[in-house]
Amino acid sequence: MIPATGQIPLEEEESRAREERLHTLFETSPDPIYLKDGEGRWLEANEAGLQVFRLSKADYRGRTDLELSEFDDFFREAFIACFESDQRAWAAGRASQQVEVVPQPDGGSRIFDVIKVPLFYPDGRRKSLIILGREVTLRYKAEQERDRLLLQEQEARAVAEEARRRSEFLATASRRLAGSLDYEATLSTVAWLAVPFLGEWCAVDLVGEEGRIHRAAVAAAPSWTEHARQLEDCTPDSQAARGIAEVIRTGNPVVFAPLPGEEALPSLCDHGGAHLPAVQAMGLRSALSVPLLARGRTMGALTLASARRDRYRDEDVALAMDLAWRAALAMDNARLYSESQEAIRARDEFLSVASHELRTPLTALMLSVQRLLRRASVGSELPRTTLVSMLEGTQRQGRRLSQLLDRLLDVSRLQARRVQLELEEMDLAEMARDVASLFEEELRRTDTPLTLRAEAPVLGRWDRSRLEQVVTNLLNNAIKYGAEAPIEVEIGAEGEMAVLSVKDRGIGIAPERLPFIFGRFERAVSTRHYGGLGLGLYIVRQLVELHGGTVHVESTPGQGTTFTVRLPRSGPLRGSVSSRSALSS
Ligand code: ADP
Repeated sequence: MIPATGQIPLEEEESRAREERLHTLFETSPDPIYLKDGEGRWLEANEAGLQVFRLSKADYRGRTDLELSEFDDFFREAFIACFESDQRAWAAGRASQQVEVVPQPDGGSRIFDVIKVPLFYPDGRRKSLIILGREVTLRYKAEQERDRLLLQEQEARAVAEEARRRSEFLATASRRLAGSLDYEATLSTVAWLAVPFLGEWCAVDLVGEEGRIHRAAVAAAPSWTEHARQLEDCTPDSQAARGIAEVIRTGNPVVFAPLPGEEALPSLCDHGGAHLPAVQAMGLRSALSVPLLARGRTMGALTLASARRDRYRDEDVALAMDLAWRAALAMDNARLYSESQEAIRARDEFLSVASHELRTPLTALMLSVQRLLRRASVGSELPRTTLVSMLEGTQRQGRRLSQLLDRLLDVSRLQARRVQLELEEMDLAEMARDVASLFEEELRRTDTPLTLRAEAPVLGRWDRSRLEQVVTNLLNNAIKYGAEAPIEVEIGAEGEMAVLSVKDRGIGIAPERLPFIFGRFERAVSTRHYGGLGLGLYIVRQLVELHGGTVHVESTPGQGTTFTVRLPRSGPLRGSVSSRSALSS
């Protein structure tokens, strides 16, 4: 049967019209659309799609992505990326979505949200791949900008939060440091303040006498207490070129880090690595040491350590310096406070000892005077010898009183640096003999033998009356603490130095008191058993040092004491350091 005329053309026309509509839709779509065959060859691409790769219609048909990548240097990478993404779409076996970025010759790039739909023949062979892109460059960039701003805001917030934490830390530190004037407690507070805010371990090292460094306080995170204890003995070597000694010497902060390949921090241990196992066990990998500065003086160093590598940045150094400054100030205040407390205590003790000391001879003197007065008022005559002995006793007490007052005056003069030496050529041996002869009566009374040995005159340029005071004070003590055993005084010379020694065999001095006996008001015996102001040896040392000399003591409890004075025979150097420092001690 022949089909009715006009029927077929109508269907064809409709199909053509549909095709045309589809084609128009395909061509005018602002979104790129591509159609590839099962081998990846480009079959169709609309205008928007060609534009992405700056292709013309003639360029692409029948070519695969890899062939196109050979053809265009600029888009090579982009074509290869498309090929790989196509492979993923085929492997997925169904419509899949991907983001593709295509760089553009103007320097920017276009970003597409791409849907790839693979079609298969019934037997599973690849038939064609439909690729629909939607440009999301603007949205993507807006999202990126939003993320960047968000990150920026988060960072700013973190910085502000960190600044708040730091200033809160310093405020707490100041509050706690101001809370106590106890020196030891302040040291420990300083160490504990820093843990864990500035590290897991902290040490306070102080410079002591003769520049030696000692570890004054240590704090560590609880889990490290055992190892940290070992590091308490790890005192920094003040002679070391690096490490904590360097910080104390230069007054500058130092950040320590292990050298490449090193696990521990040798700079934390100056004892040939003896404590390195503890440093290792604690896992300390970075440290920061800052000086403790107060009133222009480096008192020591505050050292912090952490298990984190590169823990200490510039802002941590600044924070630790700030903490150390506050800590040093608090420590200095606590030290001054305890010194002033000690001075007040010594003054109070001195006042009570002084009034006791003055009262004893005064009472004896008053008693003698009363007895004489009573006899005189009843008109009774006293035998001459009794009268002489009573007046001698009165004189002795009067002399004792005046000696005590002289000592007090000397001390205040020495302290006010008002002692002027009047130098003259003199013989030390002769002077010592003269002073010893003044003690004859007392030696007799106390039954104490004294021998004085001086083989030849010992000449020098000294202040006679001041050296008389030195010998008087030493003899006084030798008799007072000598337990009536023989006393030996010896005067000689060793080259340019004159040497005078006073040796007794008395009660001796306990070793722990020896370092203090030359201090003001310092005594090594109880006031109940022995009178005294604790000033005699202070005056001895000050006067000897004013002459540029030294005084040395050797003593064994129960066996006796020897004081040795050495004086330069040429007299003190003018304005010599030793005489000045003597006055300031
Ligand atoms: P004091 O007035 O107490 O004797 P000093 O300054 O002369 O004061 O001596 C200080 C302390 O040193 C004394 O209190 C005493 O304990 C001790 N001391 C001084 N000389 C001797 C000595 N020869 N033997 C034992 N102790 C001594």
